[in-house]
Amino acid sequence: MYLTDTHCHLYFDSYDGDLDEVLQRARQAGIGRILVPAIDLASSREVLSLIEREDFLYGAVGVHPNSADTWNSTDLAVLKEMAAHPKVVAIGEVGLDYYHERTPREVQKELLGLMLDLTRESDLPVVLHVRNRSEADRSCIEDLLDILEVRLDASTSARAAQTRLRGVIHSFSGNLQEARRAIKAGFYLGVTGPVTYKNAEGLREVVRKTDLTRLLVETDGPFLPPQEFRGKRNEPAHVCYIVDKISEITDLPAARVADQTAVNAASLFMWE
Ligand SMILES: [Zn+2]
Repeated sequence: MYLTDTHCHLYFDSYDGDLDEVLQRARQAGIGRILVPAIDLASSREVLSLIEREDFLYGAVGVHPNSADTWNSTDLAVLKEMAAHPKVVAIGEVGLDYYHERTPREVQKELLGLMLDLTRESDLPVVLHVRNRSEADRSCIEDLLDILEVRLDASTSARAAQTRLRGVIHSFSGNLQEARRAIKAGFYLGVTGPVTYKNAEGLREVVRKTDLTRLLVETDGPFLPPQEFRGKRNEPAHVCYIVDKISEITDLPAARVADQTAVNAASLFMWE
């Protein structure tokens, strides 16, 4: 078995100078699969060129809510074509962001709706971004979960059980109740660097009370470095710090956490 990093933006400028070394360190750390999610049409193209170049990279294409202003209706046909690439294993990252709120909420929801339609048409899982306005204002994740639940209700009555809505809520930062709603809807929770931060007791509680079969491990590089690397660029090799922290929280051996999260990722993204 191997480790996975199910979320790293390897096409960002911060990797320009040493991407080969970054990938080398990832391989040395035992990482067998990395999912590279796009944020807009231009990065979706960069994702395609990366996954064609490196055997252990897989991609997600889509338009992030913070890039919603770049959206053009003709982009949909282009994305659909990209989604048919054999190493594109998800649509993402897409979702809602009420923290930056770069475009009005209604515009974000409309774009998310198109992206979720695309997952159905392409029969791919979705990588979801969600960021609340504040710790107290939880309307962003609530809106997201409402949207997912409405779609799931609609799809259970429809014929296509095989093209059911499925995916991961990337860098999950919700509370236990929200975690349970997401899991009930069939989603995985992506665990990132913040689980190692001193003030993240709430998140650790969610991880402790969530079955390991519902968790994925992600770096979200170049962002969200684990505690040991705060202030520095994050990269796939650091995913072992997330695995170690989950091992500590759940009192399960790190190898078991690595294996199970790799199995989870393989069953969601269908990459063996
Ligand atoms: Zn991301």
